[in-house]
Amino acid sequence: MVKDTKFYDALGVAPNATESELKKAYRKAALKYHPDKNSTPEAAEKFKEISHAYEILSDEQKRDIYDQYGEEGLSGAGGGPGMSADDIFSQFFGGGFGGGPQKPTRGKDIKHSIACTLEELFKGKTTKLALNKTVLCKQCEGRGGAKGKIKQCPDCQGSGMKFVTRQMGPMIQRFQTICDKCGGKGDLCDEKDRCTACRGKKTESERKILQVHVDPGMKDGQRIVFSGEGDQEPGITPGDVIFIVDEKPNSEFQRKGNDLFKECEVDLLTALAGGEIAFKHISGDWIKINIVAGEVISPGELKIVEGQGMPIYRQSGRGNLIIKFSIKFPENHFADEDKLKQLATILPPRREISIPKGVEVDECEMTKYDPSRYQQRRHDAYDSDEEDARGGNPGVQCASQ
Ligand SMILES: [Zn+2]
Ligand SMILES: [Zn+2]
Repeated sequence: MVKDTKFYDALGVAPNATESELKKAYRKAALKYHPDKNSTPEAAEKFKEISHAYEILSDEQKRDIYDQYGEEGLSGAGGGPGMSADDIFSQFFGGGFGGGPQKPTRGKDIKHSIACTLEELFKGKTTKLALNKTVLCKQCEGRGGAKGKIKQCPDCQGSGMKFVTRQMGPMIQRFQTICDKCGGKGDLCDEKDRCTACRGKKTESERKILQVHVDPGMKDGQRIVFSGEGDQEPGITPGDVIFIVDEKPNSEFQRKGNDLFKECEVDLLTALAGGEIAFKHISGDWIKINIVAGEVISPGELKIVEGQGMPIYRQSGRGNLIIKFSIKFPENHFADEDKLKQLATILPPRREISIPKGVEVDECEMTKYDPSRYQQRRHDAYDSDEEDARGGNPGVQCASQ
């Protein structure tokens, strides 16, 4: 009888399952719930769960402890978190099970952000960037020594790392450590056959200049990929060097996709009676737009200038330019009373006010609002609101205001 069946249940096997049944069950479940196949959070949890279960049950000693003492037996102080689900997965499917840990087969991608102004993204730009990268030693072509004199380390199978399992009471600790036989080099070689340039390191550092072409119309977050330009290491495919466009905000124009947005203020006369607006475009050219007399511009109104947006990446044509208008009204007393009366003859008539008959009317006056002067009172009002919320009677409070 086993104490706990949780891990067996996770894999869907009986507690007396054989090693090969466990393997089969894990393979099936891992392929089904692997984040590459199934990206839901539930699947990610399940993937962790089955991987952990398999990590325990596939290890004879751990399985014994689990069967006798349950999960507590394994997770005592100093038990450690064990391996990650991904490590277990790659160890299993990498075919290295039972041997040393697997080295990744592909190097890391190296990411750099490349700051671009909106003007640069409009016209495109070419930047040269210097990069320090690790490359295979040229003298030994990454072997670390003379040809034919290098043997793969049998203890770690060339990875330079190995797992060590240590039992401490009922706990089992498993950790990765540098292979002591080869000193982490992954191979064995007589000192006299070692490469003199890299001293067996197999790699050297190199400065490389990359020409980065930012094409017109590229967007924030877009990636420019230099395939295989990442660090080189023997036995692995180098990763990519990836430049990520970082679009800097512009004070005059906002970009949304291929469209540009601009706020534009016109005076009241232009808004009512027409005129012209002009501004410098992202392209560097100036834009002039005629507002015909009779076409009224309201505050907040949007207008579109077709084809004056950003270039469309790797296509002909451009997005649109959208202008949002605000109106600059004249100052107080900009004209004397007689002139203002003339306005009444031109503008549409005033809207009549309507107050129901028989109601009480308070005649009030208003002045300019100065927030700093009224801050204290607003604060008081806020406080009393809070008191209401704490159990006062809001109905009474409202009635007295
Ligand atoms: Zn070398
Ligand atoms: Zn070794």
